[in-house]
Amino acid sequence: MTSGKIGVSTQNLFPIIKKFLYSDHEIFLREIVSNAVDATQKLKVLASSGEFKGDVSGLKVRVKADKAAGTLTVSDSGIGMTQEEVEKYINQIAFSGAEEFLEKHKDDAATIIGHFGLGFYSAFMVSDKVEIVTKSYKEGAQAVKWTGEGDTEYTLEPAERAERGTDIIMHLAEDEKDFLEEGKVQELLTKYCKFLPVEIVFGKKKEWKDGKYVDTEEDNVVNDTNPLWKRKPADLKEEDYLKFYHELYPMAQDPLFHIHLNVDYPFNLTGVLYFPKIDNKFEIQKNKIQLYCNQVYVSDSVEGIVPEFLTLLHGVIDSPDIPLNVSRSYLQSDRNVKKISSHITKKVADSLTDIFKNSREDYEKKWDDLKIFIQYGILTDEKFAERAKDIVLLKNTDGKYFTLEEYQNLISANQTDKDKNVVYLYATDVEEQYTYIQAAKEKGYDVLLMDGQLDTHFINHLEQKEANRRFLRVDSDVIDKLIQKEEVKATAWTGTEQEEMRDVFEAQLPKTGGRYMVAFEALGEDGEPVVITRSEFMRRMKEMAAMNPGMGFYGPMDDQFTLVVNTEHKLVKGILEDERKALGEKLQPIDTEMKGIEQKRAEIDELNKDKKEEEIPQVDKDRKKEYGEQLEKLRKDKRSLLEEYGKGNKIVGQLIDLALLANGLLKGEALNRFVKRSVDLIQ
Ligand code: ADP
Repeated sequence: MTSGKIGVSTQNLFPIIKKFLYSDHEIFLREIVSNAVDATQKLKVLASSGEFKGDVSGLKVRVKADKAAGTLTVSDSGIGMTQEEVEKYINQIAFSGAEEFLEKHKDDAATIIGHFGLGFYSAFMVSDKVEIVTKSYKEGAQAVKWTGEGDTEYTLEPAERAERGTDIIMHLAEDEKDFLEEGKVQELLTKYCKFLPVEIVFGKKKEWKDGKYVDTEEDNVVNDTNPLWKRKPADLKEEDYLKFYHELYPMAQDPLFHIHLNVDYPFNLTGVLYFPKIDNKFEIQKNKIQLYCNQVYVSDSVEGIVPEFLTLLHGVIDSPDIPLNVSRSYLQSDRNVKKISSHITKKVADSLTDIFKNSREDYEKKWDDLKIFIQYGILTDEKFAERAKDIVLLKNTDGKYFTLEEYQNLISANQTDKDKNVVYLYATDVEEQYTYIQAAKEKGYDVLLMDGQLDTHFINHLEQKEANRRFLRVDSDVIDKLIQKEEVKATAWTGTEQEEMRDVFEAQLPKTGGRYMVAFEALGEDGEPVVITRSEFMRRMKEMAAMNPGMGFYGPMDDQFTLVVNTEHKLVKGILEDERKALGEKLQPIDTEMKGIEQKRAEIDELNKDKKEEEIPQVDKDRKKEYGEQLEKLRKDKRSLLEEYGKGNKIVGQLIDLALLANGLLKGEALNRFVKRSVDLIQ
C-alpha cells in the first residue's frame, strides 16, 4: 500500500468546493455518473477501433444505495484505471496557473470546478470518505483501491475486482444521509441523467402486488439513451415531438410548433425548441428551456445562451461547447456562447419565415399566440427585428391578417391625411369601441385590433421605424378629425353661444371617473349629436406610466375625455333655442350690464395704451380691478342660471349619457338614472 499527498493546489480547493457549492450539493451525483458514462463510452470507442476485443453491448452504469453501510455506489464496466492512471488522473490535478486562477475566482466555486473538471472531487461535498475500486480493461491489469477522506491524504492499495470497470463508493457524511433515500436518488437521476447515452440502472422496476409495490426482475433504467434531439429530423414525426414535449413538461398544453436545431460547425449544438401556448396572460414561465452538455443536464437557466426574448420558449439545448458549471458572468463573456445565441436567433427567424411562406394559413391561425414572442423579439433584439420584419402580422377588427407591407398598401389611398401621414386606426376592445369602429368603417376606413400585452410598445416601435406612419385609436377624435384630409368646417356658433352651452352641458357631466372638457364642432346634421373622445397622447402616456414606474408623473393623473357637441345636429340646435327661450329675459339684463362694464374697461385700456405699467395712474388700476370683480360676479350669476337650466334639461342629460354609454362609461347610479330618465322621456 502507498499513501501520499494530492496535487498542491487542492489544499485550497476543498474548502472552496465545500463552502460555495453548498446549495448545489446534489450535482455530485451527476458528476460521478457522467464519469461512469464517459468511461463506458471510451471503451466503446476502443472497441470500434479494434483496440478492445471484448463485447461492449448492453453495458450499464449501476447506482446502489446501501443504507446499512451508509454508502452510495456508482459502478460501471467501462475502461477502468490502472494504478498509474489513478495516480495520474485522480491524485495529480495538474494544471498550470492554478494558484492565480483560484485567487481570482475564489468566490465562484462553480467556475473553478467547471474550469478544472474537478467532477470526481465533488463527491467530497457529501462524503466523509470516498473509495475507488477499479480495474483497467488492459490485459493482465491489477485492480486497485484508492481511498480518500476529503483532505489531501490518500491511500492506494491492490484490490479484488472480478471484472473490468470502476466502483465509486461514497461514504455519506452524517448530514448528507438524505442521498441514501430511494426517492431522493431517483429524483436526482431523473433530473440530471434522464438523457445520458448509456443506460443507468437504479434498483429494479416495481409492480403493484398484494397491496404494495414489489421489485420485479427487470432493471429500473432511469434514462432514455437516444433522446429525440439527437435523432435526425427526417426520422421523426410530428407526434414524436409532441410526445417528447409532454415528457419534458407533463402539465403544459400542446405547443404551437417546434424547431429542431442541429449545427456542427463552427460549434456543436443540437436541441429542439418549442413555441409554447401561453394562455393570454404574459405569465412568467414555469417551464424552462433545459440546457444539456452531451446529454448531461446542466441547468434550466439559459440566460446569456439564448437571447432574452427566446428564454420564454421551451425545449432542450445541448452543446459540449457551452462551458459546464460556470457562472453567468463567465458565460456572457464567452465567445462561443455569443455565437450560439446569435445562431439560435437566426434559426428561429428562419423557421418562422419558412412556416410563413409555406403555410401562411397555419401561421395566421397561430399568430395570436405567436405574436407576443415575435413582438418581444422585435422590441428587444435588433437583429431579430431585421429578420422578422416581413413576417409580423397585423390583425384587423374583422379578423383578417396582413403583413406590414400589405397593410400599408391597403390603407394608404384612403387613410393618408393632408400632412401625408398614413394613419393606422386601431381599437383595443371591439365591444367597448364598437360605435367608433362602425363610424370608421362607414367612412371606408380599416380598423386594426391592438389588444395584446405588448401592443402599446409595438405601436411606438412601428411609428419610430416609419416617420409618416401614425397610429390613432378610433375613439381619440371625432371621425372627421381622425384622419384630417382638408380643413374641417368650424362651428357657426358665436363665442357667447358656445360659452352658454358649455355651462349647460357641464352641469350634467360626470364628476368622477375622469375629467371632461366640452368642445363644439360642426359634425353635420347626420353626425352623432354628442361624442366622447380620448386624446391619443394622454392615453398613451398613462398606459406607458402604468407599465413603467419611472414615468410616475402621468400615472396618477385622471383620465381625460372631450365631450364633443355637434352644433349642426337638430337636437343640439333645439337645446340652444330652448335655452334662449327659457333664459333670454333673465340673461339679457346681465349681458347688457356686462357689456357696459366691458366697454368702460376697454375705455380705460384705450386711454393708457401707450403707457408703461408703472405710468398707469393708480385710480385707473383700481377701477379696472373693480370692473373685473363686477364682471366675475355677473359671470357667476349667469353661470348659475345656465347650470340650473342645464340640470333640468332632460335632453342634455340624455345626450351625454348616450355618449357615455357608447364608451362603456355609464355605470352604477348614473346608469340607473339614465334608465329612469329614458322611461320618462318615452312616456
Ligand atoms: P474530468 O472527468 O472532468 O476529467 P474528474 O475529476 O471527474 O474530471 O475525473 C478525472 C479523471 O479520472 C477522468 O478524466 C478519468 O480519466 C478518470 N476517471 C474518473 N472516473 C472514472 C471512471 N468511472 N472510470 C474510469 N476513469 C475515471
